[in-house]
Amino acid sequence: MHGREVHEGKVDSDMATPADGYGSSILGYPRIGPRRELKRALESYWHGTSTRDELVAVARDLQEDTWRELAATGLTQVPGNTFSYYDHVLDNALLFGAVPERFRPLLGELDPLDFYFTLCRGREDFPPLELVRWFGSNYHYRQPELDENTVFELNSAAVLDEFERAKAEGIELRPVVLGPLSLLLLSKVAPTSEKDGFRTLDLLDSLLPQYEKLFDQLARAGATCVQLDEPSFTEDRSQEELEAFRRAYDVLSHAPLRPRILVTGPYGSFGEALPILAASKVEAIGLDLVNGRMSAAEFAAVPGLKRKRIYAGVVDGRNVWKSDRRRTLEYIQSIAAVAPDLVVSTSCSLLHVPYDVLVEYDIPGDVADRLAFAKQKVGEVVSLAKALTTGAEERWRKPPVSVHFKQKHTIRARMNALTPEHRRRAPYEERRAVQQARLNLPPVTTTTLGSFPQTDEIRKARYDLGQGRLSWDEYVKRIQETIESTIRLQEDIGLDVLVHGEHERNDMVQYFAELLEGFATTHYGWVQAYGSRCTRPPILYGDIVRPKPMTVEWISFAQSLTDKPVKGMLTGPVTMLARSYMRQDQPLHETADQLALAIRDEISDLERAGIAIIQVDEPAIRELLPLRQDGRAEYLDWAVDAFRLATGGAKPETQIHTHLTYSGQESVVDAIERLDADVTAIVATRSIGWVLEAIKDRPLSHGVGPGVYESRSARIPDIDELDELLSEAAESVELDRLWANPDGGLKTRHYWQLEPSLRNLVAAARRLRRRAAADDA
Ligand code: GLN
Repeated sequence: MHGREVHEGKVDSDMATPADGYGSSILGYPRIGPRRELKRALESYWHGTSTRDELVAVARDLQEDTWRELAATGLTQVPGNTFSYYDHVLDNALLFGAVPERFRPLLGELDPLDFYFTLCRGREDFPPLELVRWFGSNYHYRQPELDENTVFELNSAAVLDEFERAKAEGIELRPVVLGPLSLLLLSKVAPTSEKDGFRTLDLLDSLLPQYEKLFDQLARAGATCVQLDEPSFTEDRSQEELEAFRRAYDVLSHAPLRPRILVTGPYGSFGEALPILAASKVEAIGLDLVNGRMSAAEFAAVPGLKRKRIYAGVVDGRNVWKSDRRRTLEYIQSIAAVAPDLVVSTSCSLLHVPYDVLVEYDIPGDVADRLAFAKQKVGEVVSLAKALTTGAEERWRKPPVSVHFKQKHTIRARMNALTPEHRRRAPYEERRAVQQARLNLPPVTTTTLGSFPQTDEIRKARYDLGQGRLSWDEYVKRIQETIESTIRLQEDIGLDVLVHGEHERNDMVQYFAELLEGFATTHYGWVQAYGSRCTRPPILYGDIVRPKPMTVEWISFAQSLTDKPVKGMLTGPVTMLARSYMRQDQPLHETADQLALAIRDEISDLERAGIAIIQVDEPAIRELLPLRQDGRAEYLDWAVDAFRLATGGAKPETQIHTHLTYSGQESVVDAIERLDADVTAIVATRSIGWVLEAIKDRPLSHGVGPGVYESRSARIPDIDELDELLSEAAESVELDRLWANPDGGLKTRHYWQLEPSLRNLVAAARRLRRRAAADDA
């Protein structure tokens, strides 16, 4: 870069300024690879079929392809350090040397990359770092663990190396680093902590010097700007945390030698953190102006803001719709009038959208025309910056192609006719009596949550079906054989309520989306969920219609094989919504209700086919919860309403189950009672202890199945420990309302794990029953 000079201790350059045009940038980019190259490379390395060098080569190519491609699009600033082998939060913790204490014994023994993967994936006696959802998205990070003895130590070789490699090609990267506050707030107190009242934020003062050291190294390498992401400040924060934020940026902006600092607040409104930054000496602020829209007047009202370089996040990083160019341009023009040093940018990293819409061959044309994935969004950012600089092209002046979301008269009419009665079943105790008469289930009923392992043969059959190499009839036969062996296995294990195993579903949301009208699905639209795991979120583009039953044949077939009840298995409306790209022309609750009606119809078809128990999973019901307190109560009202619309038509004698994730934000008892499902299986995001604690507080009227063993862990729980957990639950739940089940689906497990685990579960439940019978006698 030319024209750089060092003054007042900071590196400055002639980066884009209004005089030579408005700048353009993005906050981050996908990294799994346009063809999931990283996923394949990781998994083959983990399975021992490729070498570390091969993995490193794939990673390096992805990293370099990304900045080359971004630089070629004409972005004036290309973000760096956006690649990760697994998770960027953990990368940032390790960048500052925060190795979780309990893994230290492995440090010398393993190669650094293998050590890193062990943090992510665990191994015997070393449970992995916890997976935590990332700011209301479907991305999950590995939660760093800190304690009072954590000593930070900068480990910047990889960041600098990337910077240098790009520089050698004439590309100056703006390294992206998680801000110090978010790094601490997103971490948890390690189990090794012994200091009462220790909080991760207590480490701030020892962390900041490492950031200063990083700044110094980057500045010396020639970096003119560094990006610090502070997404934790788009959530509600205490005064104390805001004070720490102020102090941290005061310290960092006075670092002796440093690049310009850009602090971003993706995923929402920066709220009270904004005036703090505006008053600080940091040079640039990145705002999410999609979720945290601000008017020009609001901008002007924040003292100091107009003197900052503003990265105006106007292109939505969380959704797949094209921006309305004309309106967006008008909006940034209004902002540029009060904040003239403006860079057009994205609301957050583009991590949450697929790479490229142009490779999709199967999306209906009128829908495809309205879509923008990561590549297209970069193009939007560049052309908006150009239009802001030189004026809009003539064709922008026309109103945009009207974004018409398909509306269906029948569903509209049905929605208009809804009454509160549609969301209400007979009183729970009445239902319980008729269900028990029909089902005659033992106390501490044992069951699983739906899926059984997806074997390679099944995946291959589905792939062959898609490629036209396998006929539908042959496919059905293979699935039926697998269903049959799943039923036999469960009978042999002695489970009381069986499942068909969901072998016909790759991903539950994708499965239903493919069968419903109003959804488009992609072939290559993979988005990272965590590590090597990706999903293809469907795209909701029109009113939802269920052309025909979606699950009845599979479930009826499974039920025909056994005398034990087989559960119908559906995905709830809010989970369908949360795991899809949503339409923007109507409130979310209307879309949720449309989905609910489709599920409601499926339930009545299942009832007609004689199915007595139907599970409607809502693991994602809290994923759409607003990040700030504001609006949460309203959200929960309509989310609960949608679930009740889906299940409200079920007959009293049909037992409705659900599967919820509980993270302690509200009373679990309230949540269960409001949903009014007959039985609720609970996954606790922390540990089962929480749930057991929570149900102690207040008697529970409905059936409940605390997930007594972690289905995702490789460990096989023994009978004693399962007995102990169930007995603890039994202290607050009557035995005939208590269910014994794992805490999640078994799709990604192996039979050698789940079979002994389930046998132990059944044995533990039987023990409990026997003891109870002996006590009664
Ligand atoms: N039925 C689903 C399964 O077993 C439940 C998983 C979930 O709710 N997340 O895969």
